[in-house]
Amino acid sequence: MPLVAGNWKMNGDVELAEKMQQTFGATSIENVDILICPPFPYLSSLSSDSFAKGAQNLSQFAKGAHTGEVSATMLAEVGCQYVLIGHSERRQDNGESDDVVALKVQAALENKIIPVLCVGETEAIRESGDFLKCIAAQLDKVIALVGITQFAHMVVAYEPVWAIGTGKTASPEQAQEVHKFIRQHLAGLNSEVAQGLRILYGGSVKAANAKELFSQPDIDGGLIGGASLDPQEFLNICLAAKS
Ligand code: PEP
Repeated sequence: MPLVAGNWKMNGDVELAEKMQQTFGATSIENVDILICPPFPYLSSLSSDSFAKGAQNLSQFAKGAHTGEVSATMLAEVGCQYVLIGHSERRQDNGESDDVVALKVQAALENKIIPVLCVGETEAIRESGDFLKCIAAQLDKVIALVGITQFAHMVVAYEPVWAIGTGKTASPEQAQEVHKFIRQHLAGLNSEVAQGLRILYGGSVKAANAKELFSQPDIDGGLIGGASLDPQEFLNICLAAKS
C-alpha cells in the first residue's frame, strides 16, 4: 500500500493540527497509508484514526545528559509510529553524518518506531553525475549498522536536495531511475526485503504533479513538505496515491 507522509518542518500550530484532523476525519481514503510529522510540541495534540503520526527527528541516545534532545522511547510514549531520519535539512543545519543517521535508525528500530530514512544528492553531486554512488553510500552506512533484514521495518525516502522546497521537482523519469537503483541495490543483499520496501519520493510534490510521480513502478508514495501545510492540498496528494 502506498504511503504519503507530510513533513511540516518548523511550521504549523495547534490550529493546523485541528484542521488536519477535521479534513482527514471527514474523508475516508482507503488503500493509502497517511502519516503526518509535525514539530514535537504538536505530537500529543494530533490524534486521528485517519492518519499515523511521526516525528521529524530523534536522538541517537537512549536518555540522559543531552539537553534539547528527544528519545525514541519518548516518541513511542506519545504514539509516534514513524520518525523521519536523515532529512537533508538535518544533515545541513545540524551536521548529521551518515554515521549519526545510522545510529538514529538503530534507536528507532529498537523502540519499534518505523524509520523513514531520507537519502538524496545535492545539486553539485547531481551535476557531477555521481548521484547513484552518493545514494548507495548513504544506504550502506545504515545497512552496515542495522543489517539488511531491518529494512523490512523501514521506509526509504529519496529526496534530491535540489528539489526540496525549490519548486524544482525531479521528473518522473529522474525519480524512477533513483528509486529503481535503490531497490536493486538492496535486492543485491535481500530481494524479498527490497521488493517489500516502500520508497517514497520527496521534493516539491504538489497535487498537480503527484499522480505522475506516484505512477512510476518504484515510487510507493511521497514525502511532502510545503504542500502538506494545506490540509486540502495534502488530502488531494493522498488521493493521487490511490491506485
Ligand atoms: C521535505 O521537506 O521533505 C520536502 C520534500 O519539502 P517540499 O515538498 O517542500 O519540497
